Amino acid sequence: MSDARHDDFAAAAAAYALDALTPDERRAFEAHLATCAECQADVASFRGVSVGIGLATDPVDPPSGLKARVIARATGQAAVAAPAPTPARVVEFHDRRSPSSGWLAAAAGLLLAAASGMYAWSLHTQLESVRSNQTEAARRESATRAEIASLRQQSQQLARTVEVVTAPDVVRVTMAGTPAAAHATGRGYWSQTRGVLFNADGLPALQTGRIYQLWIVLPNQAPISAGLLGVNANGSGSLSTAPPLGVAVPRAATVTMAITNEPGTGSPGPTTPILLAGNTRTE
Ligand SMILES: [Zn+2]
Repeated sequence: MSDARHDDFAAAAAAYALDALTPDERRAFEAHLATCAECQADVASFRGVSVGIGLATDPVDPPSGLKARVIARATGQAAVAAPAPTPARVVEFHDRRSPSSGWLAAAAGLLLAAASGMYAWSLHTQLESVRSNQTEAARRESATRAEIASLRQQSQQLARTVEVVTAPDVVRVTMAGTPAAAHATGRGYWSQTRGVLFNADGLPALQTGRIYQLWIVLPNQAPISAGLLGVNANGSGSLSTAPPLGVAVPRAATVTMAITNEPGTGSPGPTTPILLAGNTRTE
């Protein structure tokens, strides 16, 4: 098994297993490897080590001079900055006179130490990159989800607006401010099957803990709450209430809509004077 040809190449097995040979050296070694069971066993053994530390699945360039140091260590020759090897020199880079029995362990130890350091550094860099990518991906996903939720809400709001305004049973009420809210205007829509829409402008600013409440008033009935709304700095606010309201749109009756100022959670019935109101007669 141990012939002259083998001695020429034996020291290359570790470097080969770690992808540390030049292309020319690799070709020369592979030609021998195909015919040498001992080198095949060595390469398999080193590959096992390199697989164990992750190099086989993620090759990295060995630091410059590593191979020269390994060879020097293995052959007892001084390390030199290796010039670009020529094919003629390829089989010369191992000293055939002293195939030391300890070189394999020495070469393996040196390569393993260097490779472990490189691998640790490479792994750290990869982990940092993965963490960074995950953070960015999570941020984008969160932003996208929020955007989708907002669009869905706007879409549902728009759909309900169209449904209510175009409903066959819709009641439209134009509202005007009372003297306590002289600049207020409003418009309400009520469909028994589609819901209630309301918007107002020019309402007075709300005190903390107060809210506007919309009432629908039918003849001979207590006012029915149609929902709560706040207003912005311009006194504008809107309301969209899902059907049913709990009472049917009456035929041939006067429907009144009104706004009052109520405690923040609303009231069972109006507790303050009406600020905005209007009525219409259904057919
Ligand atoms: Zn061999």
